[in-house]
Amino acid sequence: MKSGWVDSEARAAIDHYARDGISRDLALRVYTTRLLGRDPKLVLHGGGNTSLKTTMPDLLGEEVAVLCVKGSGSDMAAIEPAGLPAVRLDRLRKLRARADLSDEDLLRIQRASLLEPTAPNPSVEILLHAFLPHKFIDHTHANAILSIVDQPDGEAICAGLYDGRVSLVPYVMPGFGLAKTAADIYEAKPEVEGLILNKHGIFTFGASARESYERMIALVALAEERLQKNRKAVFVTAQLPQAIASVDAVAPILRGACSRKDEKIEGAWRRMILEFRTSPAILNFVNGAELARYGQAGVVTPDHTIRTKNWPLITIAPARDRMDDFKRAAQAAVTDFCERYQAYFARENARAGGIKRPLDPLPRVALVPGLGLFGLGRSKEDAKIAADLAQCAVEVVTDAEAIGCFESISEAEMFDMEYWPLEQAKLGSAAQKPLAGEIAVITGGGGTIGRATAKAFAAAGAEVALLDCDERAAADAAKAIGAAALAVKCDVTDGACVRDAFARVVAAFGGVDIVVSNAGAAWQGRIGEVDEDVLRQSFELNFYGHQRVAQAAVKIMLAQGTGGCLLFNVSKQAVNPGPNFGPYGLPKAATLFLVRQYAVDYGADGIRANAVNADRIRSGLLTDAFIAERSKARGVSEKDYLSGNLLGREVTADDVAQAFLHQALELKTTGDVTTVDGGNIAAALR
Ligand SMILES: [Zn+2]
Repeated sequence: MKSGWVDSEARAAIDHYARDGISRDLALRVYTTRLLGRDPKLVLHGGGNTSLKTTMPDLLGEEVAVLCVKGSGSDMAAIEPAGLPAVRLDRLRKLRARADLSDEDLLRIQRASLLEPTAPNPSVEILLHAFLPHKFIDHTHANAILSIVDQPDGEAICAGLYDGRVSLVPYVMPGFGLAKTAADIYEAKPEVEGLILNKHGIFTFGASARESYERMIALVALAEERLQKNRKAVFVTAQLPQAIASVDAVAPILRGACSRKDEKIEGAWRRMILEFRTSPAILNFVNGAELARYGQAGVVTPDHTIRTKNWPLITIAPARDRMDDFKRAAQAAVTDFCERYQAYFARENARAGGIKRPLDPLPRVALVPGLGLFGLGRSKEDAKIAADLAQCAVEVVTDAEAIGCFESISEAEMFDMEYWPLEQAKLGSAAQKPLAGEIAVITGGGGTIGRATAKAFAAAGAEVALLDCDERAAADAAKAIGAAALAVKCDVTDGACVRDAFARVVAAFGGVDIVVSNAGAAWQGRIGEVDEDVLRQSFELNFYGHQRVAQAAVKIMLAQGTGGCLLFNVSKQAVNPGPNFGPYGLPKAATLFLVRQYAVDYGADGIRANAVNADRIRSGLLTDAFIAERSKARGVSEKDYLSGNLLGREVTADDVAQAFLHQALELKTTGDVTTVDGGNIAAALR
């Protein structure tokens, strides 16, 4: 590990922030905080924090001594000065004289001492920063340090390695107690460059931003060097099946096993999104014969526990030709995991006085020998964070085992951290959206209706994949929705292409819950004279396209075992033929019947099938030029042409999207056709 400090960049940061009246010290504090934040071997996802002691004017213009400390849970790589809220230092320091301090009191004192009342909550490690005297303080959970302190003799290794340059702090849970202990230990030997916290991480400090930052880099680099010496080969590989199943075969089974029925709403499930990772290092770890020991030994640093839980789920290796065995074993492993978690909660909650409410017992990380690891979360973002932390744990534990034996904090210490309200507060309390944890695939996703539908489903909390034969259109639509939306090139008239596209969706999210089969195109011709090829072409897209998509989805839904929802875009042509529109209407009529067939054949599996009957939507099918031509031919305005229905209202792609969304949410509705046409009595179904 090398210092990332560059003089010209530091000067640029000073100049940049000076324009907003930010001091040189705070500008450099932001600069080195970002340097730490951009290295995943030092900090990940809100872990770690930094501070600066300085003076600032309060709201009345009076200069006061403050501690600018990173906001709780915020990302160091992208921090701005406002992300380091200023707190009155004298008030924080007075707290050191207390014998104890409740979380509630700390939070209230902290908020009442902020210079800016609307600032974010400061880091949970604020008091440690306040009680140490240094102008600049840096704290990370550096992987190399963790590999050394997460050992039974971690303190002894550190003592030998650092030769008096650091003091060692025994494990104490973060908060008031740790802050007091660390300050006492520091004061016994004030010449040290930093503190190493057993089973937790490292603090360095200095008179300048650069000194504190470069001490961090130097001390971590020493740990990295130590890890390269006297290594033993890890791990001894277990016996594995010859042929391992692919990610897209494993993920839906795992996802299904990790889903739970909603106890309050019949037919509803609480589902997870998956993020898959693999690499030679991950495979070496998950394939080890002793995985059950080192893989279940606990977190590498305490603040991972809220994201990963204390242990991962471990499954058997999935043999390609024995997926039924894998399914049974995965379900049993998840049941065992939940029972173990519930027993842990009951035991530790009794110790804590029975005051805590249990969190859900499902795993957040799954290790699959032969394949890799999965992060699990209620959103793609949460799943990615869990996977990042799991990957970090693989590195830390591997290195710890290479020079000794990995050891974590005790069960009681893990519980105190996992159920610490200040830690849980980092996860936020965002209201659950109705489709949170669900994965929706939209075909024709690059078109007007597909785009609007994907947007509506994403807004309702679903992860969305947009399939389109026009890759660029799908990518543009996905980009407009957000970072997590997936675009996949898919021609629904090609069976292999459909299977590949669904495999990609499964690899990206872990499965499929909702399909909006929307891709279509119009062919015309007077039915008695039309070329048979034209009819067949239309059937390929407007009937078989829907069938291929539905079939691929059902296979995945059955593997998950948590039901599902198939939604079809069926035109009003299916029930109300227009002149010379037979080549379009006939396959659509067959698709209407297809909806009912899926409803009949898969109702017992909890898979619902519904259709939307839309008419006259401005889209790729009904282009502006076509609308102009048709309205002119009828001698009416475009507006009158589009709103020529019983309600006299123009129907839009957003109206169709809302109809699909309602069908996805109507858990007791299958075999339904919802009409979205402003009223067309000739196309009414009954
Ligand atoms: Zn920490």
